[in-house]
Amino acid sequence: MQTQIHQVHIEAIQGDIAKQSDITAVVNAANAQLQIGGGVAGAIHRAAGPGLAKECRPMAPIRPGEAVISGGHNLPNDYVIHCLGPVYGSDKPEEKLLADCYRNALRIADEKQIDSVAFPAISTGAFGYPIEAATDVALKTVKEIIPKLQHVQKIRFVLFGKSDFRVYEAKLKRE
Ligand code: ADP
Repeated sequence: MQTQIHQVHIEAIQGDIAKQSDITAVVNAANAQLQIGGGVAGAIHRAAGPGLAKECRPMAPIRPGEAVISGGHNLPNDYVIHCLGPVYGSDKPEEKLLADCYRNALRIADEKQIDSVAFPAISTGAFGYPIEAATDVALKTVKEIIPKLQHVQKIRFVLFGKSDFRVYEAKLKRE
């Protein structure tokens, strides 16, 4: 599923965030300590190797909504952008904090002149954010920031599960 907003190509695929070899920067649904975890943070750190956690240590802890950038280490990507999503029902206001993740990640990518960025569905796993609401925040925020981007040309949403992919597919079709 793909669409185009202001010359920026937006797409959603079903897949693994740690296997996006044609993308310059992948986004990690990180924990505050920027260390290996479950879900996305597990897949990214396992594929990147221990050098990633080592590089990240001095940047930790990060706050909900914040994003920091590191190298890609053994991943097929030049960079990892680590975002701490809000824990649903606990970090408030959760909609703003989730939007901050997408905004800050794309701002950092553009500052680094990165051409392509892949996002997982931040906060929708262990952090419990309902997928429909999280997808609305992701797409709305990306749409808002796109006119300000000078270097990012492609944004890919990578959904692990089929039903999550279907949610993105349906909502992107309406863009
Ligand atoms: P959070 O703690 O921000 O909720 P999780 O990593 O637990 O982050 O989950 C975020 C989303 O990413 C969930 O929808 C989960 O199903 C999905 N996910 C888990 N592993 C992967 C992976 N390897 N690639 C892409 N998405 C993944």
